[in-house]
Amino acid sequence: MTDSCIFCKIVSSEIKADIVYRDEQVTAFRDINPVAPTHILIVPNRHIESVSTIEVEDEPLVGHLFTVASQLADDEGISKGGYRLITNTGVDGGQTVLHLHLHLIGGQMMRYPMG
Ligand code: AMP
Repeated sequence: MTDSCIFCKIVSSEIKADIVYRDEQVTAFRDINPVAPTHILIVPNRHIESVSTIEVEDEPLVGHLFTVASQLADDEGISKGGYRLITNTGVDGGQTVLHLHLHLIGGQMMRYPMG
């Protein structure tokens, strides 16, 4: 955990969020500023800054993020229609929170790019 990271604070329950899934490795919660009917963020409980700082030993954890995303898409009823997973990375990638996260976005037809 890093003291200043808002997603670390959500993982530790220091800050409230609309949490939809939690296990020993990952936490998922609804984005505070949704861009589609379903907009969930899936984050590792352990602080990893971004894709750029993923290490080889993080591979099982990163794979688990995707497994949970797939399960949540089922739970949200958007698997059949399809959805988008986004991981913004760094300044040019539009990353505003420096804690690795997948955006699970769906429930409407997506256009590319989104802003
Ligand atoms: P990114 O710009 O890819 O780093 O995404 C960060 C996302 O976190 C944005 O979509 C924000 O709306 C979302 N966000 C920021 N603070 C919170 C919060 N306290 N609870 C839920 N979502 C948040």
